[in-house]
Amino acid sequence: MIKSKYQKQRNALADLLADKGIRDDRVISAIRDIPRHTFVDSALWTRAYEDIALPIGLDQTISQPYTVARQTELLELQPGAKILEIGTGSGYQCAVLCEMGAKVYSIERHKALHERSREQLRDMGYRPMLKCDDGTLGWGAYAPYDGIVVTAGAPVVPSDLVAQLAVGGKLVIPVGDSTSQKMHVITRVTEDNFDEKVYEGFKFVPLIGEKGW
Ligand code: SAH
Repeated sequence: MIKSKYQKQRNALADLLADKGIRDDRVISAIRDIPRHTFVDSALWTRAYEDIALPIGLDQTISQPYTVARQTELLELQPGAKILEIGTGSGYQCAVLCEMGAKVYSIERHKALHERSREQLRDMGYRPMLKCDDGTLGWGAYAPYDGIVVTAGAPVVPSDLVAQLAVGGKLVIPVGDSTSQKMHVITRVTEDNFDEKVYEGFKFVPLIGEKGW
């Protein structure tokens, strides 16, 4: 069998993320399998398996692998879960969720990124539902979701996203100012009861929109 390009580097990245504390083996194996380099410009391929964010144009970035892994782990995916992602960007986080068996809906506000990620994900054989829009309002037509993951930093938790959670569902969202954000996980415990936990700090590009910056 021909070893796929960069498999050694990908294995090393997966091992590094496990060392950094990622406990969900399904996340680790998705990262081991998905060719992250194909989500960035070929000039950046040699850096694609370092644990760093990389530029994808339009002042946006593909998130650091640790961040992708941590957000995904915090969703606590059940098999076949229906997940909404805000900020498709390169499509990498979306691919990780698809690879783990989730039914994924993802929204990107930049048309060029939306189109590029749509092509990339299709070429890889993934079948998410994608749209180009302001994700701070969620995607009401397909709600409720078992999980919602926001991959840009928000000033506050957008109320529409909370409203679109299924009972038992989790919203994973970085909230803070423009320099740093803390990861908030809001669980809809019952129809009217929510639990909120706050985790460690991160640095994301801003969530721009009606309920964002
Ligand atoms: N999940 C992406 C991360 C991309 S960075 C990946 O794996 O590559 C965050 C993305 O969120 C950017 O592409 C940015 O354009 C997008 N974004 C910011 N505000 C948004 C909004 N209100 N709705 C949808 N996308 C938004």
